[in-house]
Amino acid sequence: MGKVLIIGAGGVGTVVAHKVAQNPDVFTEIMIASRTKSKCDAVVKAIGNPNIRTAQVDADNVDELVALFNDFKPEIVINVALPYQDLTIMEACLKTGVNYLDTANYEPKDVAHFEYSWQWAYKQRFEEAGLTAILGCGFDPGVSGVYTAYAAKHHFDEIQYLDIVDCNAGNHHKAFATNFNPEINIREITQNGRYYENGQWITTQPLEIHKDLTYPNIGPRDSYLLYHEELESLVKNFPTIKRARFWMTFGQEYLTHLRVIQDIGMTRIDPIDYQGMKIVPLQFLKAVLPNPQDLGENYEGETSIGCRIRGLKDGKEHTYYIYNNCSHQAAYKETGMQGVSYTTGVPAMIGAMMFLKGLWKRPGVWNVEEFDPDPFMEQLNKQGLPWHEVFDGDLEL
Ligand code: NDP
Repeated sequence: MGKVLIIGAGGVGTVVAHKVAQNPDVFTEIMIASRTKSKCDAVVKAIGNPNIRTAQVDADNVDELVALFNDFKPEIVINVALPYQDLTIMEACLKTGVNYLDTANYEPKDVAHFEYSWQWAYKQRFEEAGLTAILGCGFDPGVSGVYTAYAAKHHFDEIQYLDIVDCNAGNHHKAFATNFNPEINIREITQNGRYYENGQWITTQPLEIHKDLTYPNIGPRDSYLLYHEELESLVKNFPTIKRARFWMTFGQEYLTHLRVIQDIGMTRIDPIDYQGMKIVPLQFLKAVLPNPQDLGENYEGETSIGCRIRGLKDGKEHTYYIYNNCSHQAAYKETGMQGVSYTTGVPAMIGAMMFLKGLWKRPGVWNVEEFDPDPFMEQLNKQGLPWHEVFDGDLEL
């Protein structure tokens, strides 16, 4: 049915490549390209399908991307490199007539700032070129938006309160490690918290607000209010929302390490002089931390991510909780990667599948909740991320 180019051969890229290869009726030709070609070759070897092509590309460089796209001629690019590369890849798509999908919004390297404005600014150009760009198609953002769209379509006339809850109850047996790219992860969680209430954004200190939330099959976990990018698009696309928040669990050990590395300046993202060289402390820290891709083998436990929603149906208030639990070990057995990479990579593959099947094909730049959630939800059940619903239970929020 279609040719796909995956950019990025990290934890998420590895899962995307496995899942794309498992669906040969949809993805008829596959290439994986990244900064380090040997990593792409290792992924292909692990999958055991020699028909998958590999290539080296610097995705910060539009000309290199254009040359690669003109050579392979993909119908869609799945961008699972880093958020810094979103705009260069979108530019190259426009120059070569290729459709686009990613899992994280653009971030400039020198300032940790999360907003869709840079990518939404491409809407008209994608429309005029007749190309589709699907933004934020991992788990959160991604499935969190699809769950919300599904709830709005089937269970509510008006969604009023939305809480996205993200629990990782896994244990990787390391004193400190991040579950995806450490630089991107630490930039995200050391930011101020932010949530939406009654038409306004309210800013909190980093990790200032927290409470115990109970996760299915896991139990209570201390959950911290963070800003997360999908809140911006969800309150725009569902204007009945009065309050939208995002919660993520952290253990005390993790938070203690985080506080120490912050206090000693290791999370700084501005370049400093070191023996005549400029280095960015957070990038140096990434080099000495465990590689998230190596966590899988000893990772136990599961993730639980979902949406807790309160709103009106036929004039009455109802609650709805929809979630997925994903086992780190099951993810590792299938793809060689842990659950956080798995829960991101599977939805990215499904988004590309939706596009190639013509179900999510619409010129312009879109967030996932703007498409029909039903065929995506059906695939989540088939592709390894089954979902569960609780009606009118206690949301704790
Ligand atoms: P990794 O750091 O493991 O992988 C990133 C990959 O991109 C690496 O292969 C890296 O190459 C490659 N890369 C980086 N810069 C360039 C460049 N300039 N040109 C070409 N390739 C490049 O990250 P993850 O796999 O953990 O995360 C991938 C993406 O997924 C990130 O954008 C992250 O924000 C997003 N994400 C989204 C989630 C969601 O639920 N929506 C959750 C988790 C992650 P090299 O190996 O040579 O460094």
